[in-house]
Amino acid sequence: MHDKIPPSVSAKQIDLLYKGLPPALFASTLIPIIFLVFLQDFPEPKSLLTWAGLMLLGIILRALTAIHYQKTKQSDSFKIKQAETLFIAGVALGAMTWGSLSWWIYPLTDNQSTHFLFFISLLGVASGSIASLAYRRITANLFIILILAPMLIRMFRTHEKSDIAIGSIIIIYILYLLKNVRFFQENNEKVLLLEEKALAREEKLKIASKKAEAANLAKSRFLANMSHEIRTPMNSIIGQTRLAIDEGHDPKIQFHLNIIKNSSENLLSLINDILDFSKIEAGELKIDNKPFDLHIAIQLIIETVRVLAGDRKGLQLAYNIASDVPQAVIGDKQRLRQVLLNLLNNGIKFTDKGCIDLSVTCLETMADSLWLQFEVRDTGIGIAFEKQEIIFDEFAQEDDSSTKQYGGTGLGLAICKQLCQLMGGDITVTSTPTEGSTFTCPIPFLPCQMSDLPAEPNQDKKRQTQNCHLSLLLVEDNEANRILTRMVLEGEKHQLVEAHDGLQALTILSKQTFDAVLMDVQMPVMDGYTATQMIRLAEQGKPIPEVDKQLAEKLGDHLYACHTPIIAMTANAMSGDKEKCLAAGMDDYLAKPFHPGELAEIFSSMSLKSSLKK
Ligand code: ADP
Repeated sequence: MHDKIPPSVSAKQIDLLYKGLPPALFASTLIPIIFLVFLQDFPEPKSLLTWAGLMLLGIILRALTAIHYQKTKQSDSFKIKQAETLFIAGVALGAMTWGSLSWWIYPLTDNQSTHFLFFISLLGVASGSIASLAYRRITANLFIILILAPMLIRMFRTHEKSDIAIGSIIIIYILYLLKNVRFFQENNEKVLLLEEKALAREEKLKIASKKAEAANLAKSRFLANMSHEIRTPMNSIIGQTRLAIDEGHDPKIQFHLNIIKNSSENLLSLINDILDFSKIEAGELKIDNKPFDLHIAIQLIIETVRVLAGDRKGLQLAYNIASDVPQAVIGDKQRLRQVLLNLLNNGIKFTDKGCIDLSVTCLETMADSLWLQFEVRDTGIGIAFEKQEIIFDEFAQEDDSSTKQYGGTGLGLAICKQLCQLMGGDITVTSTPTEGSTFTCPIPFLPCQMSDLPAEPNQDKKRQTQNCHLSLLLVEDNEANRILTRMVLEGEKHQLVEAHDGLQALTILSKQTFDAVLMDVQMPVMDGYTATQMIRLAEQGKPIPEVDKQLAEKLGDHLYACHTPIIAMTANAMSGDKEKCLAAGMDDYLAKPFHPGELAEIFSSMSLKSSLKK
């Protein structure tokens, strides 16, 4: 067995042998001391003293080998074989000194109790060696035999019956000890081998987990890039189509344009779903709890789907908020909206006649928690009982014909479930085929006061901002997006100056003042983050490192002690992108493709100079 064991296990055995040495040496020191103290009337005290001295010398030598081992075991010059040989030599030396007790000291006295004392000491030391020496069978066997063999021979040489009996018992004892050594060593070897395997497995797991983390990171990066690349042209497609619909008169062209608009909006919602799902999978999607007006949020959600339900499909859409549901709550309004919109849209999609109904009830109110239950009921096609669990799995649909007839990817409910769980709640469904379905989401919120709600944008100011004409600097490298933003903003009668990258924007800003800057993030020459940081440094009168001296001076002169609002307009829509923009010094963030209304809302919520002046 010994030959087959790997070197690492062998090294561990040697290490355990050396570790067991201090207690063994301590016991070996105590026994000769007891002899010297209690055998005062020993006939030849000098011999006993010499034996004890030899014992002590052996103990010191073995202690030195242990110290040497501890010192060298981490060094490059350390050789395991050498450590093993040294240990075995020490063991042989110690055992021979013990063995000499029966050969040399034992015959010097006739005292039976002294004989018994020697006898029992030798047996005790031999049997005690199993625990400290049996990690290597040869070591323990050598020790036991060298200690007990001299006593055995002595007993058989006297030819006295009682001595032969003792000798026979010693043989049985030796055989028993050798068997136990074997048992101990084999078991210990198994444990060490298992430990070795467990360590190797752990190491493999660590490597695999590192690889998985790296792959996940690569996936997130790929998603972020893909999202950016797809959103950039989508912005232009959706925006231009909207403009064309607003401006056009030909009903046939309007019909085609509406199809393009709906399809691109569907495509965008699919991209958003995939992105959301990946964010949840990567643990990147965070819940953002803030005070909000739940009643208004529900009304707005209903307004969003009313056109789809009523005008397009002729369905009734109703909602009911129980009287004990508070108006002000703390929760993630956007994620709640996402879940409810998904459920309502599904209800509308899978219902051909009848009604869709959203109800909000209060399950439990306590001082520090508030459980609300949202129920979306429809009178649609329903879901077969056995499919009611799997529809919450990603990419799962009730059956393939569903995809053909109603479209969809099967991601919506998987995202809803994850979002409900992230908010601390859950989602379940009950449904009867051909009669309809009810999706139920119990979700915890925190109660708060109406006074905790953020102030709604001042309507007068909003109107004022909408009516005023802002001077804006658009920093955007993509031509199609520049054209689109220009058309949207000029349609609102704002004045627009364009820059193709961050550096060009800085040059313009060193000469001209704007009400706000619309800043793309990923651009050649100088990106939006750097440009924003340079603007903020200039405003604070600090040195501007990234540009030449002349431009830095001009920027400083022009921008010092001002604050130009900067709105990020970017296709980077992964988690953390908004925070990155704000950390770079931007004031707000708009993900592409944007809706013209969203931009107007940002303008109205910001204290833009023009709106204050007017
Ligand atoms: P998608 O609607 O994009 O396919 P979802 O995850 O939202 O993905 O829904 C998964 C499946 O669950 C749907 O394809 C449909 O089979 C079933 N389903 C969801 N909501 C309803 C509903 N209100 N009525 C009937 N079936 C539904």
